[in-house]
Amino acid sequence: MSCDSVDEQMYEFWQSLARSAFGDMVNDSDRNKLYFKAIQKTMTHLKTYKEDILGVDIGTGTGLLSMMAVKSGAHRVVACDCFEPIVRCAQSIVQTNGFSDSIQVIHKRSDELTVGSDGCDLERRADVLVAELFDTELIGEGAISTYRHAVQNLLTPEALLVPSRARIYCQLVQSESLFSYNQFRDNIQINDQLMNALKPNEDFIVVTEPEVVFEFEFNNLSTLQPKDRKIIKFKTTRDVSGPLVLFMWWTLDMDFEGEIVLSCAPFWTYNQSSINSETIPWRDHWIQSIYYLSAKNRHFDLKANETIKVEANRDEYSLWFNESDDENYCSDSLGFQCKCGLHLFVSRTRISMISDVSRLKRYNKAIEDIHNSMANDSTNALFIGDSSLVPIIASKYTKIKKVLCLAKNKQTEDFITSYSKSNGCEDKIEIIRDFDQIEDKTVGLVLGEPYFNCSDLPWDHIHIWHLFHNIPSNVLSNDVILMPNKALIKAIPIEFDNLWKINSDVGSDVEGFDLRFYDQLIKSAKAESDASIESHPLWEYPVLVTGGTGLVGRAIESVVNANKEEFDCYSFVFIGSKDADLSDETQTRALFQRVRPNYVIHLAALVGGLFSNLNNNLQFLRKNLSINDNVLLMSHEMNVKKCISCLSTCIFPDKTSYPIDESMIHLGPPHDSNFGYSYAKRMIDVLNKAYHNYNCNDSTGAHKTVFTSVIPTNVFGSYDNFNVDHSHVIPGLIAKAYKAVTEAKQKGAKNAKLVVFGSGEPKRQFIYSIDLAKLIIWVLKSYEEIDPIILSVGEEDEISIREAAQEVVNAFTDDHMKLELEFDRNYSDGQFKKTANNGKLRKYLPDFEFTPIHVGIKETSYEEIDPIILSVGEEDEISIREAAQLIVNAFTDDDMKLELEFDRNYSDGQFKKTANNGKLRKYLPDFQFTPIHVGIKETVEWFRHNYSTARI
Ligand code: NAP
Repeated sequence: MSCDSVDEQMYEFWQSLARSAFGDMVNDSDRNKLYFKAIQKTMTHLKTYKEDILGVDIGTGTGLLSMMAVKSGAHRVVACDCFEPIVRCAQSIVQTNGFSDSIQVIHKRSDELTVGSDGCDLERRADVLVAELFDTELIGEGAISTYRHAVQNLLTPEALLVPSRARIYCQLVQSESLFSYNQFRDNIQINDQLMNALKPNEDFIVVTEPEVVFEFEFNNLSTLQPKDRKIIKFKTTRDVSGPLVLFMWWTLDMDFEGEIVLSCAPFWTYNQSSINSETIPWRDHWIQSIYYLSAKNRHFDLKANETIKVEANRDEYSLWFNESDDENYCSDSLGFQCKCGLHLFVSRTRISMISDVSRLKRYNKAIEDIHNSMANDSTNALFIGDSSLVPIIASKYTKIKKVLCLAKNKQTEDFITSYSKSNGCEDKIEIIRDFDQIEDKTVGLVLGEPYFNCSDLPWDHIHIWHLFHNIPSNVLSNDVILMPNKALIKAIPIEFDNLWKINSDVGSDVEGFDLRFYDQLIKSAKAESDASIESHPLWEYPVLVTGGTGLVGRAIESVVNANKEEFDCYSFVFIGSKDADLSDETQTRALFQRVRPNYVIHLAALVGGLFSNLNNNLQFLRKNLSINDNVLLMSHEMNVKKCISCLSTCIFPDKTSYPIDESMIHLGPPHDSNFGYSYAKRMIDVLNKAYHNYNCNDSTGAHKTVFTSVIPTNVFGSYDNFNVDHSHVIPGLIAKAYKAVTEAKQKGAKNAKLVVFGSGEPKRQFIYSIDLAKLIIWVLKSYEEIDPIILSVGEEDEISIREAAQEVVNAFTDDHMKLELEFDRNYSDGQFKKTANNGKLRKYLPDFEFTPIHVGIKETSYEEIDPIILSVGEEDEISIREAAQLIVNAFTDDDMKLELEFDRNYSDGQFKKTANNGKLRKYLPDFQFTPIHVGIKETVEWFRHNYSTARI
């Protein structure tokens, strides 16, 4: 509902009420339990020596802590809150729960409470204080001055406080990506960050242990001073090479003895395998913060065990940190004070966006492309938008005469003016207030950034389109170009584990107290003032692909890369055996903790062709059993939403009827030749069912996983294993054909032989890896059964090995080479046929089109495993003298003349190493190399600019 449609004052009232909602706090049951436990312990202790316990509750909210106090033994509690509607709500809740006689809720700030016998709020100083006054930075809501006042004015000297103590912790981490969010380096900045959503070793590297930077005893005035400053010595636990940022979080000692602790520490600081990103208590309302050191250097080079000193400062509301060389140095910094003005009108999120280099690069690339496609005549660009660097970027392009920036407000004008000055492009930037300042037909390019400071929901930013359309047509040239010129709005249903609690009712049983009155109040406020849609940042949903370096893994990677937009909301992590040996449980656990996947595509396996299986059944069995058990166990422990494992048609019973289908996997022993691999694969199906049963019987409903499997037939494609001794049929044949053809060519022959082991009669269904990848992704998105599904071409597409070999022969045969087939019957054929029925797949996807086998074989780039020379042609080979002359030219200008001299005392090395780039030219006949004088000029320019940091 907009401001125009309701009485403005009422709207603001409902708005402030809706915004004051703290349902997420009250829904944090871990927090509630810790408070209750500490209050019970405190009251039990007080009761041992006090007969009449008087409590005070500051910022009472729902009155929950007061009720906990009275239920635990306090005789009376005076609760206060400064927001009147909440006070009335707390009064109703207190009454509903039967505590009206012992709890008095007062509409006052705590420093307005009066103490004394004559009609004062508190008849005497209180024995106990219960309060929850904290924000992400702990002190941002004024907790320090509130406690200071309470200790001085409201409490007895022996009073106990819940919580009793707080500690602020910091840890230094190395992170290029987190650092890049703070490009405005003159300003010391802070970012709220849900650290449990970050991946250690990927998003950042921990380089020191956490250190306590500030500690507050809430009843000890000496720790509650308005200001404090400390030098913290962090010791590096490893070598550091890169930018550092400071992670901050806090903990509370809830009781006076410090036994009951509420912690906002991120999961990796626990060093306990039972605490990970999944098991750590949900606490999105008190997330952690990142601070950027006001350091001279962005790049730190430190060895392990070195000390780095950080000056930690605080005032009553905020914290800030500087790198400090000198222990005695005391910065006169007054905390974070925006000097540039930017932080006063632009949100932190927008500052992160402006600082995001990859984002800027994309805008730059788009403008560069437009610039390169523009006719030679220069034109003016018109920029529309808020707080954006796009006009600064555009100004560096030569065909853009002027960038006219429509600034409707002073902030936008200041922003553009100051950034154009600091980038030396003020001559090319012109601020305009209205379109009538533009001459007719002079704008050939309209630029905008779909971002507006006052917008909330993503589609609000499409306002840019409206502004584009409001540009009077007379100022635009006939061939005007718009950027951006297209927008897509995407939607995805998402199941949140916890985030929904932010908006959910707190209900009638919060540690035994009925808080429904609060729900009613907030609901009516939201109904009056809020849109039905709320904006929330979405974090990515990682898909872990084990076996990501193999044939199928690579195919999935190329399908995902080719359809980036479709997979925007997933982040795929492809791993091979170098990332973790999945047959080892410890390594598998570490991998899962690092990636924390929501989905797993499990392809990793010890895979081999007929002959390597025959010789190594024990190894195939044991290795694959361990890999599969570890991956599924970790997927279970981490509550992965879906895990898709890969079986194979060769694991089906040896003696069976054909065609085989999904129901027949376990109906008899597999073929003797590969029983190890087969039984290990079959166990995946058994495990999937066992986990499903376990989950169904788990009354807590903690695991909502779908573990399923797919059964591909024989896969082939690029990145296959082409080792003749260990490969499957088609890659083996391709490798042999390649070898035969290359050897024949070397001898000048025009004929070669492809020898096929066995009779060539057995039949197989082959699936191209790219088709399989597409189908596995479909399973990821849409297949919800636990039972496996065969992913295969139809029975009618089954072909003999002979036919497959013929396709390979065709792919290698051309005018210069004829390849013949020969069959070596000394080798056994293996199982004669394994026809699989793809009826189940066809029911789901009747129209899926498989790639014809001859196309797949042709596309299978075997040569990729052989090197390719990337070089200019032989005709472009030049002498060292010529190269030196080009360098001389690049350094020579009006002020400097450089001469060449040759010192013949040095030997020349090999005279020539001419390389033939014929293979490259076959692929890319038209590729244009940069002329060497241009390349050398650019390199010299770069070197001059970067002399101080270049590797010299
Ligand atoms: P592949 O090319 O042989 O690749 C195997 C993958 O597993 C590689 O990424 C390898 O990593 C990884 N791996 C092996 N041992 C590992 C370990 N101990 N720890 C971690 N990773 C390990 O296999 P593929 O042909 O893509 O097959 C993928 C899946 O499809 C397998 O489960 C296979 O059984 C199944 N399948 C394949 C076919 C087929 O014809 N190819 C047919 C039916 C089913 P590195 O390369 O980094 O060592």
